[in-house]
Amino acid sequence: MKTIGLIGGMSWESSLEYYRILNQAVKEKLGGFHSAKCLMYSVDFEEIEKLQHKGRWDELTDIMIDAAQRVEKAGADFIVICTNTMHKMAPEVESCLTVPLLHIADVTAEQIKIKGQKKVGLLGTRFTMEQEFYKGRLTKTHGIEVIIPYEEQRKIIHNILYKELVKGEISKVSKNKFKDIISSLSSRGAEGIILGCTEIPLLVKQEDYDIPLYDTTDIHARAAVELALRE
Ligand code: GLU
Repeated sequence: MKTIGLIGGMSWESSLEYYRILNQAVKEKLGGFHSAKCLMYSVDFEEIEKLQHKGRWDELTDIMIDAAQRVEKAGADFIVICTNTMHKMAPEVESCLTVPLLHIADVTAEQIKIKGQKKVGLLGTRFTMEQEFYKGRLTKTHGIEVIIPYEEQRKIIHNILYKELVKGEISKVSKNKFKDIISSLSSRGAEGIILGCTEIPLLVKQEDYDIPLYDTTDIHARAAVELALRE
């Protein structure tokens, strides 16, 4: 089994989910007392969130490169960044590593293609929904058409993420707001919905929807296990 290197703490609420899913998936595959070999470097999210909202992405890139190199030095065989948003600097991080980086958008795209879907809605932070690093990769590398919520809806999602979900707050009101936004994307032609923020699955569950949801936390963690167990 390879050792999975995780960059976590963005937020720790979702890093916990990664840790749980990695271990459950290894146990499902190998049985017995098996669990995932992994290492995590977990950041202080206060520093990250401040820099994000000030648009200081160069400093964030340095922090992510430093974190990835620490995890590599500690013995990780590949790196998993446990957040969609911080894949903005994935190319820079990747270029400073000698081990591979498992990109969250690539493994999500694989699942979308397995389902044979061509057009999906994307939910995430404003950074993920509005900038090109995520949508662009899905479209240019994987040929998937991506639509995003309207401005007012993006504002609602971003606020729920940073004011509630990254702090572990789960609210029924916010759950209903997500329902409205997902049904709006569906009526605009989305065949599936990417839960493109690793905390969204804490609130939005497949059992409440007919439309397929792509839970990026689950997809990413399970893809890491596949890679760790590959010969
Ligand atoms: N975990 C979130 C994501 O997947 C947001 C927190 C962050 O800004 O990294 O995008």
